[in-house]
Amino acid sequence: MYVRKSRLLTPGPTPLLPSAVRAMGAADLHHRTAEFRAAYSGVIADLHYFMGTENGIALFASSGSGAMEAAVSNLFSPGDKVIVCAAGKFGERWVQMAQAFNLETVVLAKPYGESVLPAELEAMLRQHPDVQGVLVQATESSTGISHDVQSMGRMVAATDAILVVDAITGLGSSILEIDQWGLDVVIGGSQKSLMIPPGLAYCSVSEKAFRRAEIATNPNFYFNLRKHVEAGPKGDSPWTPASSLLLGMAEVLRYIRELGRDQLIRNAQLLARATRESAQALGLELFARNAIPAGAVTAILAPDGLDSGQIVRAYKDRFEAVIANGQGSMKGQIFRFAHLGYFDFHDLFATIAELEIILHELGRNVDFGVGVQAAQAVYLDALGAANGGQR
Ligand SMILES: *Cc1c(COP(=O)(O)O)cnc(C)c1O
Repeated sequence: MYVRKSRLLTPGPTPLLPSAVRAMGAADLHHRTAEFRAAYSGVIADLHYFMGTENGIALFASSGSGAMEAAVSNLFSPGDKVIVCAAGKFGERWVQMAQAFNLETVVLAKPYGESVLPAELEAMLRQHPDVQGVLVQATESSTGISHDVQSMGRMVAATDAILVVDAITGLGSSILEIDQWGLDVVIGGSQKSLMIPPGLAYCSVSEKAFRRAEIATNPNFYFNLRKHVEAGPKGDSPWTPASSLLLGMAEVLRYIRELGRDQLIRNAQLLARATRESAQALGLELFARNAIPAGAVTAILAPDGLDSGQIVRAYKDRFEAVIANGQGSMKGQIFRFAHLGYFDFHDLFATIAELEIILHELGRNVDFGVGVQAAQAVYLDALGAANGGQR
């Protein structure tokens, strides 16, 4: 067809907020000036609101994995024992990082598509009372599931260990009460809910985590947590910051303040619910089993006989839209739609209508409109709820 707009429907990078793109153009600003310091410290203050924590916050010029590495290198020493909850590719990244820094790694693994149950972590903590840390994902973007980090936080808080949460897709798509739940380190990245390109990572750090940092002996320098946390309120980044991205982030955080952080979370969760109901109405199977489905991203199994790559390719070829395939051994099995950040129902209605066309073209029997209707029903239901039962 003729005019086609390119669209990202992936769980990172996600669609960009237009006003943030404009703000990033004003990047000919020196970072040791009063204007820039105000922007930097303002971003840190707004991140406190967005994350909902009083803990110190570090901001790094890196993708999300940089802050994950900062947690491992600042908080642990070679030989320290950690439990890693691994239920997908990002859990496996924790394992690789912990091993790269010579931690003794106990892996609490679950099959792809399942969540680690809090009771399983509890048993593991009892079996290993000498554990110094627990590493987990709030949402495992590779499979579309969430972990119950609230329950996990309660368990870990009762021990000497710290809980390190990769919430790179969890922030802005799920409720995380960082301080009440005892989440010691919570990590985010710019290209997920924060609607700007990749290149900024941030994390909150509790006092308990800082006490551990004081005795940890793994080497770190560029990614030093304390230096970054102390720099934030003064607006004096330890090194040259990613200024252009920071100006974009300032704009996004202003937008989220206006919208409300809980509204942003509800938005993602509502789109996720509508996507699940549409997929099921179309006879498709969700990949999340025995699991809490994520608000950030939904993973759907390709129907029998189809490679999910065919669906991914059709989105690109027909509609200039990028959706995510499975990663690793899930490649070819599942396809994923994102909901976190700057997505709305307009995007979703189109995505599902296109899915119906794509499945039809790939030879499936499609009852046209059934998927879209399911999404419309969720929209109307939410509208009714928001208006106190009145449409
Ligand atoms: C995107 C993502 C990451 C970070 O990946 P980067 O490529 O380093 O930004 C880590 N964990 C999860 C759960 C993610 O979704």
